Amino acid sequence: MERYYHYIDGARCEPKSGAWFATDNPFTGEPWAEIARGNEADVDRAVKVAHQAFSTGAWRELSASARGALLCRIADLIAANAARLAEIEVRDNGKLYAEMHAQAQYLPQWYRYYGGLADKIQGRVIPLDKKGYFNFTRREPLGVVGIITPWNSPLMLLAWKLAPALAAGCTAVIKPSEFTSASTLELVELFEQAGFPKGVVNVVTGFGKEVGSELVSHPLVRKITFTGADSTGRQINQAAARDFKHVGLELGGKSPNVIFDDANLDDAVNGAVSGIFAATGQTCIAGSRLLVHAKVHDEVVERVVNLARTARMGNPMHVETQVGPITTRPQFEKVLGYIEVARGEGAELALGGKVAEGPECGSGWFVEPTIFTGVDNSMRIAQEEVFGPVLSVIRFETEEEAVAIANDVRFGLGAGVWTSDIGRAFRMSERIESGTVWVNTYRAVSYLSPFGGYKDSGLGRENGIDAINEYLQTKSVWINTGAPNGNPFVLK
Ligand code: NAD
Repeated sequence: MERYYHYIDGARCEPKSGAWFATDNPFTGEPWAEIARGNEADVDRAVKVAHQAFSTGAWRELSASARGALLCRIADLIAANAARLAEIEVRDNGKLYAEMHAQAQYLPQWYRYYGGLADKIQGRVIPLDKKGYFNFTRREPLGVVGIITPWNSPLMLLAWKLAPALAAGCTAVIKPSEFTSASTLELVELFEQAGFPKGVVNVVTGFGKEVGSELVSHPLVRKITFTGADSTGRQINQAAARDFKHVGLELGGKSPNVIFDDANLDDAVNGAVSGIFAATGQTCIAGSRLLVHAKVHDEVVERVVNLARTARMGNPMHVETQVGPITTRPQFEKVLGYIEVARGEGAELALGGKVAEGPECGSGWFVEPTIFTGVDNSMRIAQEEVFGPVLSVIRFETEEEAVAIANDVRFGLGAGVWTSDIGRAFRMSERIESGTVWVNTYRAVSYLSPFGGYKDSGLGRENGIDAINEYLQTKSVWINTGAPNGNPFVLK
């Protein structure tokens, strides 16, 4: 079996524990590679190396333009290796090759965009109200950033964090999910080829409790940027508060996808299916609550059920596959558990509800696209994140009611609105409490557009021009150009 090592100081290295763990292929349910099992000592070494790279040496000496050029070079290398990276991600994660191939081609844009921003980080000259002083600000990198990623989209979610962190001049220690570490380890090897100084980008693999929490508590880490479950995010936020680390959190969602009776139903039905069944529902922005106006409710349900029924399940490597396996065995069991919860709560099963079997599903962890109707928003199936192909349909009568239901949840990550009324589109996009609102579309993201959560869906924003500020801090410099220093006991 292939082995994946930690990547520290520009080199592969063995885990200090001497221990390895298996990573599985979700389509076969079988292990295909071994991953280094990190511990406190590995984290300590990686952070010290990253701290040294940040404080002294070649990275520090680079001009911002040269740093940007390196990021553009890594973008080119990712583009050149896109097919290979996509294949590894499919094998380890079960994502569709069709989606992953496109994603791997798009990924370089994050590195190019933030590479372009690297030499546009500027301070200000402050027009002071005091004579005899010159005051200016410097925007300085925070230092070592700990990056903790989940299993559902390892390369994409890493790019959202790593590209702005490096553009800002930070160095990084990455802790990928224990379920999907391989693609991150393949990616970081490209940084050396691109010419990044050693120690700027490091990876320690392993488990949350053995590696992630050590990274969060390490005193030389100045920021933790995390994507994952809200429960983990809460623990990280509390632990990081002990030594006042900066924190960025991208957490879960229970996103409403709202179809009004004036919507173009062909588009809306497509959007509903794409919102929940694309990526097998394993996305933080899954449109898992479908709110449908009473007038079109039955028609929409029938059409969504009919379309979802045709979804081709199977080997994620085949381009015709539309719904792949669940990425991990625990997640597979969790999804099945939620189907039972919904049944127990009295939701009506309109489609699916079972493990998907058949030769096309191999021995993988497949769950049928599942649709529940008659869902009340107070049910657990409407309030808790399933993170799988399970849709809850909720009926509403008025725009007012749609807003109330949409917001009656502790999350606020994404939302869809389907309407042909422009006024309603604006009203809804203003009133829904969510970091992203899509009108007459769903599941669109770009490196150019800010992304993040309201309420329990997170803290801070990724993507777009402002995300680089999440890795910078401001220093105010005062130069005395001739002011008398005067009485030492009085504020100047
Ligand atoms: P998870 O929280 O279990 O794990 C995420 C990462 O945190 C993993 O690398 C894990 O090892 C690590 N970790 C676990 N416990 C830790 C601890 N105590 N300290 C430090 N690190 C720890 O999440 P997951 O199951 O891998 O991912 C699914 C979740 O991610 C879903 O809730 C989903 O909504 C969320 N998600 C959010 C976004 C977003 O951008 N908002 C995107 C994708 C996924």
